Amino acid sequence: MSPEERDTLLSELNDISSARPVQIVVAHEDDHAFELDEAALERILLQEHVRDLNVVVVSVAGAFRKGKSFLLDFMLRFMYNKMSSSWLGGHEEPLTGFTWRGGCERETTGILAWSEVFVVDKPDGSKVAVLLIDTQGAFDSQSTIKDCATLFALSTMTSSVQVYNLSQNVQEDDLQHLQHLVKCFFVHCSLRQTLMFLIRDWSYPYEHPYGLEGGKSFLEKRLQVKQNQHEELQNVRKHIHSCFSNIGCFLLPHPGLKVATNPNFDGRLADIDDDFKMELVSLVPILLSPENLVEKEIGGSKVTCRDLVQYFKAYMKIYQG
Ligand code: GDP
Ligand code: MG
Repeated sequence: MSPEERDTLLSELNDISSARPVQIVVAHEDDHAFELDEAALERILLQEHVRDLNVVVVSVAGAFRKGKSFLLDFMLRFMYNKMSSSWLGGHEEPLTGFTWRGGCERETTGILAWSEVFVVDKPDGSKVAVLLIDTQGAFDSQSTIKDCATLFALSTMTSSVQVYNLSQNVQEDDLQHLQHLVKCFFVHCSLRQTLMFLIRDWSYPYEHPYGLEGGKSFLEKRLQVKQNQHEELQNVRKHIHSCFSNIGCFLLPHPGLKVATNPNFDGRLADIDDDFKMELVSLVPILLSPENLVEKEIGGSKVTCRDLVQYFKAYMKIYQG
């Protein structure tokens, strides 16, 4: 073996062994085009030990700089340490995984997937493959509503649980993204799908308490149809329940000033508010514990990792057309 061949082999081995976020969909904002990196997607989903397992896809989507990657890193900790009651991690341990950082610079728009697909035993004895994806927000003013909605729809169609990450409240704008989605779902309505609104920095715990119960009462109120609302948004409210088999909402407290404003914050638990950590310990297992994992179903059939590659390609075609 030549030194060059050896280097290539070593770097390939290294590639396989080090799990990381991989961009699978790139959004080109200049010409509003979306591009699927088929090879990257196949490298992840066609790995021999997962390709024939039914897939669970948990996605976190929303605007930039709202703590999606931060949350996903805790989800990764859960997946890597879930046998341990201290999955949340060490007090001084920096948080790693999906890149997350402070500041207000935006990153590439698109969909990232964690390169390692987790194999989980469900309580009924079946094995499922769990894929985590990060829909890197295109939900801000620089992108058109249609582009964001397309990206959001794409990750929703291909996931089994969509966590819609929102800051502080549910705004009419946020519901507009759903409006486009609702339209798509009427075309492909045989999806079984969970939608979880996740409200960050919730600051009215005295009105609706943190967690799932508070989220439920908050969402019921927010999705009420009222006369003075825009007609299209009234429609979203009316139809949203027919598009998702399960809709939930979780209210998360503010994680504390160090998380939000300290440029040297590295994710360690010591710097995160206790209220936040307590709610995180309840939220992550709701999404990821084996008994709660929802397998992706399309047209009433469960989808394997291998099938998912085909669905991704098919959905991309729909949105490119
Ligand atoms: P993403 O762009 O949505 O993936 O956001 P990041 O996870 O990269 O986080 C962006 C910034 O927000 C970082 O400085 C985080 O420390 C901070 N952050 C993370 N979670 C929260 C949260 O729940 N509330 C607030 N206010 N800041 C957060
Ligand atoms: Mg991010």
